[in-house]
Amino acid sequence: MHARIQTMKYVLSTAAVAAAFTLSPQAASAQQTFISIGTGGVTGVYYPVGGAICRLVNQGRADHGIRCSVESTGGSVFNVNAIRGGELEFGVVQSDVQYNAFNGQAGFAEGGAHEDLRALFSLHPEPMTVVARAETNARHIDDLRNARVNVGNPGSGQRALMERLMERKGWSMSDFALASELAPAEQAQALCDNNIDAFVFTVGHPAGSIQEATSSCESVLVEVSGEAVDALIEEFPFYFRAEIPGGMYRGNPEPTATFGVGATFVTSANVPEEQVYVLVSAVFENFDNFRNLHPALANLDPETMVSQGLSAPLHPGAERYYRERGWIE
Ligand code: GLU
Repeated sequence: MHARIQTMKYVLSTAAVAAAFTLSPQAASAQQTFISIGTGGVTGVYYPVGGAICRLVNQGRADHGIRCSVESTGGSVFNVNAIRGGELEFGVVQSDVQYNAFNGQAGFAEGGAHEDLRALFSLHPEPMTVVARAETNARHIDDLRNARVNVGNPGSGQRALMERLMERKGWSMSDFALASELAPAEQAQALCDNNIDAFVFTVGHPAGSIQEATSSCESVLVEVSGEAVDALIEEFPFYFRAEIPGGMYRGNPEPTATFGVGATFVTSANVPEEQVYVLVSAVFENFDNFRNLHPALANLDPETMVSQGLSAPLHPGAERYYRERGWIE
């Protein structure tokens, strides 16, 4: 009798699943868990990298039932705030933004420390990249005083970094003839339409937006250096000297000296361990594939990714996987 009831139950639940899949897509989707990754503008590197991670997660969907989707957003600061608010499960954020959010510093002082922020791994380096119209003759960031400069949309990592640098330099927005706040997807066209003289973008290379700006009109990468930069590098572990390789972009045969941060991947302590474990496994079990999905990822090395550039604690789901691989104690 008992066995019969069990069989009946099995038949019923199989029928229910079959009905769900054939009759109602809404009912079918209730069988899955959805996760979203916040990235940046579509002409940056975060967006394709988030897409690459989701593709790897979704390959194993039949086994784990997690469906990953990628969202274009305003960038690092937006992502960290959306994770805090529970609107996004995962996000790509600059290492300086991760540090400041977790510790409640700089732009996060008012909102307080985001103590539930958790790190997964670090990604590619992101030099502060300043592109100017060639005819402006700007070759150094100091040449941009009194120019029309896109300082980055609110919510972006470049805006946060630019404000930090300007504060050190004693500059204010009124030192520019125009301080525009266009999102990355709009900045290259604004430059080539002569609506701005320069834009600032903290981004991995090669980036679509920089390719667009340098191939559509005569434009040059501008050096970012000086006392304020030296002081920032000295003071904070997440800033480092960087160089944008010569010959990567049309009209820019020489390397450009600047400084930068790293891109990192984060989540919240409230995201279940299993979801995080599935995501990090998908990335590191298919690592060659992952590295090949974008040229900015080509030089990544797993053990460096899990040990450097992270200031929030590791999420337990990531910790479990890294321990299994012997990458951490
Ligand atoms: N670093 C930028 C930010 O934090 C985004 C760069 C990208 O989209 O690749 O907003």
